[in-house]
This record gives sequence, structure tokens and C-alpha cells, in this order.
Amino acid sequence: MEITFKSYNLGLIDYTKNMIRPFFIFIFLLTSLNSFTQDSYAIKNVSVITMTKEEVLQDQTVVVEKGIIKSISPSAKTKLGRVVKVIDGRGKFLIPGLFDMHAHFFYEQGEHVNTNETELKLMLANGITTVRIMAGHPSFLEAKANVKSRKWIGPELSVVSPQLVGKWPFPAEFKNYELVVSETNANEAVTTFKKQGYDAIKITFMIAKPVYTTIVAAAARENMKVVGHVGPMVMLPAAIEAKQQIEHMDMFIETLLPDTSYNHGQSVSDYNIYSKAAWETVPYLMESKIPALAKSIKEAGIYVTPTNYFFISNAGLPLTDEEIKNKPDYNYIPSKLRQEKWKYRESYIKKMAPLASREKYVHIRKQMVYKLWKAGVPLMTGSDAPEFFGVAGFALHDELKSMVDAGLTPYAALQTATVHPAAFLEMHNRTGTIVVGKEADLVLLNQNPLEDINNTRSIAGVSSGNSWLNADDVGKILEETKSILSK
Ligand SMILES: [Zn+2]
Repeated sequence: MEITFKSYNLGLIDYTKNMIRPFFIFIFLLTSLNSFTQDSYAIKNVSVITMTKEEVLQDQTVVVEKGIIKSISPSAKTKLGRVVKVIDGRGKFLIPGLFDMHAHFFYEQGEHVNTNETELKLMLANGITTVRIMAGHPSFLEAKANVKSRKWIGPELSVVSPQLVGKWPFPAEFKNYELVVSETNANEAVTTFKKQGYDAIKITFMIAKPVYTTIVAAAARENMKVVGHVGPMVMLPAAIEAKQQIEHMDMFIETLLPDTSYNHGQSVSDYNIYSKAAWETVPYLMESKIPALAKSIKEAGIYVTPTNYFFISNAGLPLTDEEIKNKPDYNYIPSKLRQEKWKYRESYIKKMAPLASREKYVHIRKQMVYKLWKAGVPLMTGSDAPEFFGVAGFALHDELKSMVDAGLTPYAALQTATVHPAAFLEMHNRTGTIVVGKEADLVLLNQNPLEDINNTRSIAGVSSGNSWLNADDVGKILEETKSILSK
């Protein structure tokens, strides 16, 4: 749904009809035409959380022209031209558009219908104005181009390459991966993905260390970042040395083992949540080693996407069946996938580790996030939707909440979904904060997110570029996308 200002156009005609002197009509049209052709609007009497520092600017008027923030000033001192569309922000809060730094599409999970466009709309309706898609596919590059050309409405996309893997043990129906088993493969893959237009190189698993080293060098040559998992054949010291951007805090828990040769240095990072031997190491993990770990990540300048909600609510202390069904996400999962997800969950729960180990795992994951934050590591929110029962858009708000559950302040949590991802993606000169001259990626909230981070869900409007979705538009999108996806 592209929001234009046709309704305003009618207002202009009505206004001119009532004008008595034709001369004034002529002058009025001349002076207003310029503003009219620019898609301009103002959010009036709003509390602005700029995210440049921890502050709330009260009773401001934010003027947007052609998708750019033109001014932010006290409402009492702001004069608006007649042609500006005015949005009432009284009692509401304006924050920068949110980033989801770790998202996938249902299409990757074997959905035969391509629902990329629908999921992107759903993300936007949830306040996400930038999304990083964490496994590459030609259809995702197309999605990126479609948003850019405004053929689709949705968040701006950053699309990482198909994931580089050393092995592919799963069915190969949907090819979002590339096998790299030699240094030649690695060089070719990186060069090809650069040419195809991917934004970064995605590492997954079973990659041999010499191949990893080649990937890192090739990516540097092509001026691309290396992002993603840290595999058990690479391990954390090599990833730190490469300054790889790390997802899921992969291999962080392993550094807390009393002796790195114990269980071959393997604990419950990432895919190891499925390994019985890995869970048996949990009672031995040493929380006292977390500060040194955090310091080493900080010193390397590495950005980390913990995806803690995903790991905690599904593997650590799983939600009950009822909790899953009561989440808004549940109504958006395609019925065929829903069945598969229940089956998967059933088999996981049957083999689950004892409660004491899982409680320690959850405690350690939260402590790692907290200490990383305290050490000054730039954290980023990533939902990993639609893994398990998370769905595009909604799941990001759960991850924001999980940052606060780990001990971050609501302001620090908001930084993980605005300022930090913008800096990592090198978009900070044009988005991530509410500043004059930046793009109008904005979310209008009914309640203050600095008081309760759950208030990021109280969406009253979303602006992305020069399209504005009001609460009704958001509601319509939520209904429309539900009926398309849940089939
Ligand atoms: Zn993922």
C-alpha cells in the first residue's frame, strides 16, 4: 500500500473553490505547488526520542519532505504551510525505524509460494524499516530491488550471500547455500557473490579452517564483511582474529569451559543445542570467565547479534504450547509449516536436557549479553524469524524485550535496533537516529518505550522514506498479511 496524498489534493480544491478573489487563487496555487508536489507531512506535538542521546524532546513538530527529515522544532515555534499533511502526535512518542539484523523468509523453509513481499509488508507494519536477510537467494535480491524502486512497500534490505558451508546434510530443495571445500571454491564463491550484488559473505558451518582463512582474505579483497556463524572447525580465536561479525554468540559459551580440550572444546553454542554430549558440559561452565570473553570481543571491535529470545524461548526454557498459540506470530504461520514446527518441537522436547542445565544455559546467555553490553560491545537485535514459531516483525519486539531481560536499559536495548545496526551497515549517515537531513524512517508509538520496552509494540504509525502508514493502514496490513500467510 503506497500512501499518497490524494486526500490532501481534494482539500486544496475545496479551499480554492471558496476563495473569493481569483487573483489570490492564482497566487496561492503558485506558492503552494512546490510544497504539494513534494510529499511533505508533519508530525505535530510529539515526544521525540532521537537516539542521539538518552533524552525525550517534548512537544516537537517533525517535518518531512520527500522522505527526508526537514526540521525538528518545538511545536509552539513551528509554522506549518497550509499544504503540509499534519499527523497528530499528541501523547505519542517518535523513535527511529527499527532494524532486524537477522531475518529469513518462509520461502527458505520450503514454502512453495513465494511470500517475500507479504512478509516484508508485515515487517514494516511492525515498525521495521531496515532488515538484514541472513541467507542469500536470487529472489531476495529481487525483493531488495523491488523495495528500492518502490514497486513493493517494505523495509530497506541488506542481503547477505548464500551461506558458505563445508557440507550440506539437509534436503536441497531451496538453494540458499554454497559448498566451499577448497580454497579455489572459496575465492570463486566470494567473487561471484560480490558480482551478484550481495552485501556481505555469510558463513555457516563445517567450514575447514584454511578455507575460512581464504574466505576472509577474499572478502577483504572484495570489500565485503564476513558475517554469521562460528563453526566448531574455526572456533572463536580465529573468528576474533578475522574480526568476523558474529551471530548467536556462537562459540562464546565454549570459552567458559574449564579446559578447552574437554568434550573437544564443545558446549551448547548454536547447533549444539541438539547434542546430548554438549549439554553434559553445562554444569562445568564457568561464569567467572565471561568478563574476559567480553573484553576480547570488545577489543576486536566485533558486532554481536545474540538472538537470545530465539534460543531461550525455544531451547532453554521453551514456551508452553499455549504460550506459542497465544502469540500474535502464530496466526501468520502457513498451516503446512505449522504442522512441521509442532513435530520438530515435540522431538526436541523429548530429548531435552535436565531443567537445571537449561536454567544455567539461560542464565549464562543473559549474563553474556549483559557483560558484552557493559564492556561496550555493540549489540544488534536479530529475531531469526521465522525459525521455530517466530514471525517477521513481531519477533523483533521479543528480541528487544530479551535485551532488557538480560539487564540492558530500555534505551540501550533501543540502540541495538537503531544506532548499532545503522553503524554496522554503514547507513548511519542517513538513518538510525532522528536528525535533520536523515531519511524519515520513523515509528510513532502510543506509549513511551523508555518506560517499558514492550511499548515498541504500541504502533500508531510507520514512516519509511516518503510513505506514511497510519494506525488504520497498519491494521489493514496486519489483517491482509495474516490471511495470505496463514493459508
Ligand atoms: Zn538464521
